[in-house]
Amino acid sequence: MRKYFPDMWIPIPVNDNMKTKAIFSTRHGGVSNAPYNWLNLNFNRDDCQENVRENFRILSESTGIPMECMVLTKQVHGSKVCVVDKRHAGMGILRQRTFDECDGLITSDKNVALVTFHADCVPVYLYDSNKEVIGLVHSGWRSTLQKISSNAVGIMKDTFDCKSEDIFAVIGPCIHKCCFEVGTEVYEKFFDAFPECTGSFSNKGDKWYIDLVDIIKKTLLDEGIRNSHIRDVNRCTVCEKEYFFSHRGGKGVSGTGAALYMMYE
Ligand SMILES: [Zn+2]
Repeated sequence: MRKYFPDMWIPIPVNDNMKTKAIFSTRHGGVSNAPYNWLNLNFNRDDCQENVRENFRILSESTGIPMECMVLTKQVHGSKVCVVDKRHAGMGILRQRTFDECDGLITSDKNVALVTFHADCVPVYLYDSNKEVIGLVHSGWRSTLQKISSNAVGIMKDTFDCKSEDIFAVIGPCIHKCCFEVGTEVYEKFFDAFPECTGSFSNKGDKWYIDLVDIIKKTLLDEGIRNSHIRDVNRCTVCEKEYFFSHRGGKGVSGTGAALYMMYE
């Protein structure tokens, strides 16, 4: 029997009153070598495919989320969000995807595990336990600018008749303002898109710091989600680069972790 690694993932406090598993993976417990050490879940790096597959197997065993249930995004830092169901189970890991590139997934089906990939980019776990709908979004800075969380909530409303007041959001481990330093060009894009969010920006000399979590909160509030329904686990992946995969923490060379979210019966 493989040794149990209790720190291969952290539970995400979704409090959704449903039978769900919501987790975020750490670097620990996998078989990949540096610089992808250890639990790299990204098939699109120079890490060997067999290692990544084995890492998924280990994570599946540890979380109890079967690989046959997983649906993996093909992320492009855009704003598209796809609705998936049990017909998509296993896609991106055990078989080819039949859905488009996207940075977010939504489902109302049980035993469909949504999987998004992260190495600093913000994971947003969305749920409506009234309608039994869950969503997961990969919101890097480009997708945050394009208001991907707003798209996801819009689909929950339009496709599943979710009400804003029933929707909750939890923001998982990601780069926080302490470490998200950008140049003037990126700051200006954010300022143009969110001119009212002056509290989300600060500067030191010609460098700017942007609070992506704050901006995502603003996007969700604009969709009518209650402030008390939005929670940040408040873990910065760059500050904790030994524990979580971090693109910036690895100076651009890093493995990738994953967010997983599944309802089960
Ligand atoms: Zn930080």
